[in-house]
Amino acid sequence: MSQRERTAVIGGGMAGCAAAKELIKAGREVVIFEAAAGLGGRARSWHRSEIEPSVGINLWFTSFYKLMFERIHEYGLEDQLVEMSNNVIVVDNGQPAELLSDSLRSLLTYKHVGLRDRIGFLTGTLKETRLRKQLDIFDPVKLAPFDDGTTAAEYARKSLSQRGFDNLLRPEIESFWLWRCEDVSAAHVRAMQAQVAGAKFYVFRNGMEVIAERNAEGADIRLEHEVTDLQVTGGRVHITARSADGESHAEIFDDVVVATTAPVAAKLTAALPNDIVGRDTREFLETQVYEPALSVSYLVDFSSMPSEAHIVAAGADDPPVKTIITFPRKVKDAQGRSVDKHLAFVYPGRAETRRLLAMSPEEQYAETTRLVTKLWPDFPADAEPFEIAVRPHAMPLPAPGRYRMSARVIGLQHAPVVFAGDYFTAPISEAAMLSGIRAAEKLTTAGKLTPTSAAPTTAPTSAAAG
Ligand SMILES: Cc1cc2nc3c(=O)[nH]c(=O)nc-3n(C[C@H](O)[C@H](O)[C@H](O)COP(=O)(O)OP(=O)(O)OC[C@H]3O[C@@H](n4cnc5c(N)ncnc54)[C@H](O)[C@@H]3O)c2cc1C
Repeated sequence: MSQRERTAVIGGGMAGCAAAKELIKAGREVVIFEAAAGLGGRARSWHRSEIEPSVGINLWFTSFYKLMFERIHEYGLEDQLVEMSNNVIVVDNGQPAELLSDSLRSLLTYKHVGLRDRIGFLTGTLKETRLRKQLDIFDPVKLAPFDDGTTAAEYARKSLSQRGFDNLLRPEIESFWLWRCEDVSAAHVRAMQAQVAGAKFYVFRNGMEVIAERNAEGADIRLEHEVTDLQVTGGRVHITARSADGESHAEIFDDVVVATTAPVAAKLTAALPNDIVGRDTREFLETQVYEPALSVSYLVDFSSMPSEAHIVAAGADDPPVKTIITFPRKVKDAQGRSVDKHLAFVYPGRAETRRLLAMSPEEQYAETTRLVTKLWPDFPADAEPFEIAVRPHAMPLPAPGRYRMSARVIGLQHAPVVFAGDYFTAPISEAAMLSGIRAAEKLTTAGKLTPTSAAPTTAPTSAAAG
């Protein structure tokens, strides 16, 4: 009997675990090397037993996440779903106004902008919705033809006044992804607009990592194993990993999916020759820019904050605090009674995030507590500091032209070293999973060396004119 092919997956995030599932399905023996103590990567939450549910950062997903819903049904996780209200409150110069991205009524009565901008925004959204199939926010191969070098800001200014842009599109994009509209491709915003109408929003009751964990079933999972070296000799992949006890072990595989962030992937594969990792792929990895994220959470009295709300800053300036998100939680009081509270996540603005990243948690709390009332003056003074999550490489930026580059690199990937990660598209768990599935296909399909999904590099005029 011939031996099963062995594939290593470096990184047990949403991309790596999605790749592992496909590889196992194809009959491979799969080893996942994960540097952290659990699977899920950036989709993995912290958990604290004082709150119920115990989950902290809980990623949102929507009814248009196709792979996610396929997995939910396959694993019978329907009872884990919690539908969230999409309650966006835009604060302009201290004035709050509600803007529900899935409600026509809310848009038409939105008081921060004039009627002309509201109509312009609605018309633009409807126009993009008609292109929904092509403007697939998860798939860089489909988005590439729309990525004509235009920025999201340039696109917005075609149909909105500056005020309309700063109070409608900008807060919707920048509060969720933290980047500036001036720095990202219009294709991303157009795809977002195309999908969002009528969407429902969900979280998993106990955190999104459940999907990574279920996808990885059947693999040999090596947690707290950081890969430190990757070499290819005689067509075989040599991997060295350091375990939690500081010991290094080397192992040989037939091939590998590198499913880390782009800077780690670039570093691990830097010494490989061009016939293994070509110049375009290398350049793609080395040039990926990330926005950092710092989420500072507090427990607050339930009635002191709006519930399930995204409170976001309007305007073109980089504010001290960009976003506050509130999730309801149960907490036991001193008598052991269950009390309703809000877990309030505060995200400082871009410059403040960079400044605070270098500080101790105590300083981060002190500074964030000082800054938060600039966005929400009623933020309770007795808020209880709870947990901080630091992500230096949080949000890969889809700069103009990046989707075209990504589609080209996807087409160029081949055994024995392939790559996966959300940086092929944008920071969305569904997109990360798609990248993992694509990478696995490159190793399992017969034409391993044949580029299969090279995308057009020029925009079709009718679709991209939008
Ligand atoms: C603050 C924040 C909020 C977000 N909100 C949402 C949301 O609401 N909805 C949504 O869909 N998406 C959201 N995202 C995006 C989502 O988290 C990511 O797109 C997705 O988790 C990326 O998965 P990945 O597998 O590509 O990368 P990662 O999750 O980064 O996985 C890479 C893995 O590789 C491991 N690793 C790194 N180096 C090594 C090494 N040398 N050896 C072994 N292992 C290694 C890491 O520990 C990690 O587990 C959010 C992201 C952030 C940061």
